[in-house]
Amino acid sequence: MSMAFETSRRLKQLPPYLFVELDRLKEEAIARGEDVINLGIGDPDLPTPGPIVEALKRAAENPFNHRYPIGRGFKAFREKVAEYYARRFNVALDSDKEILALVGSKEGIGHIPLAFVNPGELVLVPDPCYPPYVSGTLLAGGEPFRLPLSEEQGFLPQLDKLERSVLERAKLLFFNYPNNPTTAVADAAFFEQVVFYAKKYGFIACHDAAYIDIAFDGYRPPSFLQTPGAQDVGIEFYSLSKTFNMTGWRIAAACGNAEVISGLASVKSHLDTGIFGAIQEAGIAAFDLYDQVVPQSVRIYQERRDVLVTGLRQQGWQLEIPRATFYCWLRTKPGITSAVMTRKLVTQAAIVATPGHGLGDAGEGYVRLALTVPVERLKIVIERLQEISWDEDEA
Ligand SMILES: *Cc1c(COP(=O)(O)O)cnc(C)c1O
Repeated sequence: MSMAFETSRRLKQLPPYLFVELDRLKEEAIARGEDVINLGIGDPDLPTPGPIVEALKRAAENPFNHRYPIGRGFKAFREKVAEYYARRFNVALDSDKEILALVGSKEGIGHIPLAFVNPGELVLVPDPCYPPYVSGTLLAGGEPFRLPLSEEQGFLPQLDKLERSVLERAKLLFFNYPNNPTTAVADAAFFEQVVFYAKKYGFIACHDAAYIDIAFDGYRPPSFLQTPGAQDVGIEFYSLSKTFNMTGWRIAAACGNAEVISGLASVKSHLDTGIFGAIQEAGIAAFDLYDQVVPQSVRIYQERRDVLVTGLRQQGWQLEIPRATFYCWLRTKPGITSAVMTRKLVTQAAIVATPGHGLGDAGEGYVRLALTVPVERLKIVIERLQEISWDEDEA
């Protein structure tokens, strides 16, 4: 008979998976033969550009890449990242000390608390947020301290409102602009405030820049590392996933403060042995294609955004036009919770959306719609939305 093995206290501490009911309703809609439109996941539907795939194929033939890719990532890959930071942000990075290749940025985000956070220390995480900030903290024995993001405050955490005792116990801060899920963007003043508090209280600032290349109407999101003093206090996670439609490939980089990079590299040296060399070579090819690939993806997302936002506004929904990311962060109708709204969307309209409260208590009252389906499908979404009964008594 198989033994009963209890999972660790740390694993048990992780927040429960909140989308069980939603998944079940989605499966039921599929089983009924309904044409389900999934706006629930932040995964580009656009394929990885052909030349990147070709680079991988060529590199896969090279026996050099069949061996352990030990170290901080190929020098040539790290140099490409440095070149990108120099060209795009005018930020100078030492590719040996200040850049570390990651198996996707989720991996680096999940591991960084292990490098710096002791039990009892706080990690400041936005609410709502990308879940790995919380999970990584808990798995390291740290304590997440949530910073509510509100629309009135532009979805920026109010560091100046935090109690001194909290700031003194903080070891690390996660922040993310352009922001998933709220689509908010941050300006230089906010980043300067982060540097000020990180220096004053001695915590590490970790900026998640997953959407830094997905921005509209000519807007160019800044890098945190452009902020004076940022490299004294922190790092930025840069991911190829959204920029180059490479979510499945698992490649990203941590950039910035050499000591922080070293700590993360040390944890990683014990747990993984790097990224398949052929994927790193494909990553190098991706940076070379930036000017062909990125403006084109941005145009596609911008057109989708316009179709969805215009359609929603015509039906009386009030929402800001997202300046970046491929999401819409939609306030629910008065009196309707995120859970009720997502349930109605899936049962009455076969539309899957992410309920805001699943990403943190302060996400209650919102749902996230991902622009990861073609315009024709978004037009159907708009049509179906019109048919939904918002009467509380109906499912
Ligand atoms: C998609 C996403 C990432 C990227 O994750 P990878 O592991 O690099 O694919 C990181 N942060 C946020 C907020 C995201 O939405």
